[in-house]
Amino acid sequence: MKKIGLILILIIILPIAFLLFNEFGKLSENEKVLEEIYNNQLQAILFSVNQYSEDVVRTTANEIISRVESSDNQNSQDEILSTIVNESRKFIFIFIADSIGDKDLKFIFRNDYRSFNADSLNHLYSKNLTDNKTLINRLITYREQGYRKIEPIDLVKSDNRALLVFAGTEKYTKRIYGAVINPQDFITSILSSRLQEVAKNEFIISVINPTSGYQYNSTKDFEKKPVQAQKPLWIFPDYNLGISLIGQSIEDLVTDRAMNNLILIGILLVVLIAAVWFVYSAVKKELEFAQAKADFVSNVSHELRTPLALISMFAETLEMDRVKTEEKKKEYYSIISHESNRLGKIVNTILNFSKMEAGKRKFNFAEEDLNEIAVQIYQNYSYHLYNKGFDFEYEPGIDIPKVMIDREAISEAIVNLIDNAVKYSADTKFIKIIIGSEKGFVFTEISDKGIGVSEEDQKKIFDKFYRVSSGLVHNTKGTGLGLSLVKQIMDAHKGKIILKSKVGEGSSFKLMFPINSKENNGVTNA
Ligand code: ADP
Repeated sequence: MKKIGLILILIIILPIAFLLFNEFGKLSENEKVLEEIYNNQLQAILFSVNQYSEDVVRTTANEIISRVESSDNQNSQDEILSTIVNESRKFIFIFIADSIGDKDLKFIFRNDYRSFNADSLNHLYSKNLTDNKTLINRLITYREQGYRKIEPIDLVKSDNRALLVFAGTEKYTKRIYGAVINPQDFITSILSSRLQEVAKNEFIISVINPTSGYQYNSTKDFEKKPVQAQKPLWIFPDYNLGISLIGQSIEDLVTDRAMNNLILIGILLVVLIAAVWFVYSAVKKELEFAQAKADFVSNVSHELRTPLALISMFAETLEMDRVKTEEKKKEYYSIISHESNRLGKIVNTILNFSKMEAGKRKFNFAEEDLNEIAVQIYQNYSYHLYNKGFDFEYEPGIDIPKVMIDREAISEAIVNLIDNAVKYSADTKFIKIIIGSEKGFVFTEISDKGIGVSEEDQKKIFDKFYRVSSGLVHNTKGTGLGLSLVKQIMDAHKGKIILKSKVGEGSSFKLMFPINSKENNGVTNA
């Protein structure tokens, strides 16, 4: 049977478990793809924000150039510049630098910084521009190719100043415009509405300056938490754009899903194993039952044939008058009577069993004294057991209340237990009947010092046809019905059986009858 279990596990559980784990593997792959797609989406959102901010400055730059260069007069150009700065709150100031010479860039500043110290500013920004010669040259080259690019220039790390430079039109081939902006003002006054629009209620988009710790969030009441994707802000490279999901992060979502799937797969596996186990034990039980039934048929035919053979042999010998002495004749008569008794017992057991199975056995309950029943059995069996070499003891119960029982059925149960004690005793031949009461029950206990029953078999010996298939039992005749009958009788009495047994030490069967059971009166079917 163990082999069948193993085969069942191999055939059913392993492939399914393999399938499930394979599915789970695929699932986590899918989840990875999902995470990647999500991250790409987040990156795309940040890209669009970057694009937007660049568009804003580009449009402004184009406006500045077209307005300033609408005049050829330098003084009026300065005037226009000053108007633009005053009108627009985006800029701290704007300057025009007309570079001289091709190789070495040198800048002459003309701008609206009346309120600033011209010399120091000139010095500061011309240094910034000359330090970024290559970039400036590149802007000029781009412009020559008909393309305007706006580039940020790194200022001395400053949180509230950023410099954006761009080239003018072809009219001024060596002209560079510079716009000084406060990035945080730009973020809160220009970028913020766009960020809120893009973020909606799904994301939080932040602009962060990692060096200063500044952080602007599209959602106000948002406590700082790790952002899921970051990109530098093109126009202000000191600042990063960050984005995260409102609520659970993608990682949380993905782990949650993976966990749920894992739990689901676990439950499925457990259900599967339980189902296979259930099928396995049901099949095992059926096979065992079929085997027990087959054994029963062969046992019973053997049990019937042996006494029949003996009876007919001795009867024939007597009939033929071949027995000479009276003593021998007596011995043969006693064998015939003993064997026919045995035959009668077997037939009775089978009949009672089949009656019980068909629900046709009737019980006549009456108030009975268990002591009386036990004494009767003790007297009937003492001689017989003594002859078989048994030490047979009886301990009556003191002040035992009467209980509603069927005297005949209970006698049959006790005799069955005594028969078993005889059959399954080896060298130590000892049987004891005790009558007593405890915790609302009256009991009769039949104990022996025989071969005992293993713990595993104790669960099964009350099943019909079940016989232990090893040791002494194997050689002892029996139908496997005796204990099943005892159990059915006790069930009909609403009583219980307590079995205590140890292999090699002996067994005790305690039949317990409830004291106040009024349900037992009258006649009941089993
Ligand atoms: P049978 O005795 O005809 O085999 P039972 O139903 O009376 O059938 O008993 C079932 C099995 O329980 C027996 O085959 C035997 O293995 C075990 N058994 C019953 N009584 C005892 C006992 N007193 N000591 C040891 N084993 C017992």
